[in-house]
Amino acid sequence: MSHSASTQTISEHTPRTTMLDDLEDQYEASFVNRWDELINWEKRKQSEDGFFETLLKSHGVRTVLDAAAGTGFHSIMFLQAGFDVITVDGSKEMLQRAIENGEARGLPIQPVHADWCELPQKIKGGFDAIVCLGSSFPHLFQESARKSTLKAFHALLRPGGTLIIDHRNFDAIRAQRYKSSGKYYYCGTAVSVCVDYADSSLCRFKYNFPDGTSHKLEVYPILKNEMRELLTEAGFDSVRTYGDFRADYDPFATDFYIHVSHKQFQHSYSGE
Ligand code: SAM
Repeated sequence: MSHSASTQTISEHTPRTTMLDDLEDQYEASFVNRWDELINWEKRKQSEDGFFETLLKSHGVRTVLDAAAGTGFHSIMFLQAGFDVITVDGSKEMLQRAIENGEARGLPIQPVHADWCELPQKIKGGFDAIVCLGSSFPHLFQESARKSTLKAFHALLRPGGTLIIDHRNFDAIRAQRYKSSGKYYYCGTAVSVCVDYADSSLCRFKYNFPDGTSHKLEVYPILKNEMRELLTEAGFDSVRTYGDFRADYDPFATDFYIHVSHKQFQHSYSGE
């Protein structure tokens, strides 16, 4: 996939709130149908090189909640690696595709359709790990929603459990210094994605497909340290941040940040 960092200035935009309806809008069927073309499973698998599986195993993880499963890439990787996985997404279209991708590989997934904030009411907790990958957390535009979601993840993890959240390098995007390598996460070559607009409260990506169609996706451009602070405030400690799967990284050459943290054994939650 070729990427460019061209940013245009537009005078106004409407910030989104993340409701399930909003997800159905952003992940309409025609976009979801092309998601696997966008990510290219084989190349994504090669670029990750077992990073998440190795990390989870190093923390003795057995049970994983894949909170933003999309079409099921990580749920299926983790099932293949022997983890017990619950597959969550707020988009019915995405979840359906994840179910089909699992069936096609003989790996039945355990799907849950839910908004992150309502998860503790829908499923039993005690997970060894929760992952929220593919720059999904930035779908939350309101700080209160980010805090409520971390509170929900905190409630669902066992003490000492591992939380992994990633996001695009919005520090670089907001500084107009972003040029994605195309090596990680979204590895398909036929689809191009560019930053259509970015400011401190909105980032809009434009995906251009080979047939001339395009799709726009809007997210909140969270900064690396903003995410780290939210995690600490929510009762997660030893936050380690990787850049493109590496502990040593160049902040302006990094496509994605990956934050790995752990639920404190004793914490009284201070978020909303
Ligand atoms: N993790 C997948 C991947 O990397 O291919 C999908 C990433 S996609 C950018 C973001 C996913 O997060 C979408 O499938 C979307 O429906 C889901 N999502 C975003 N906000 C959510 C919320 N509040 N509750 C549940 N799912 C949500």
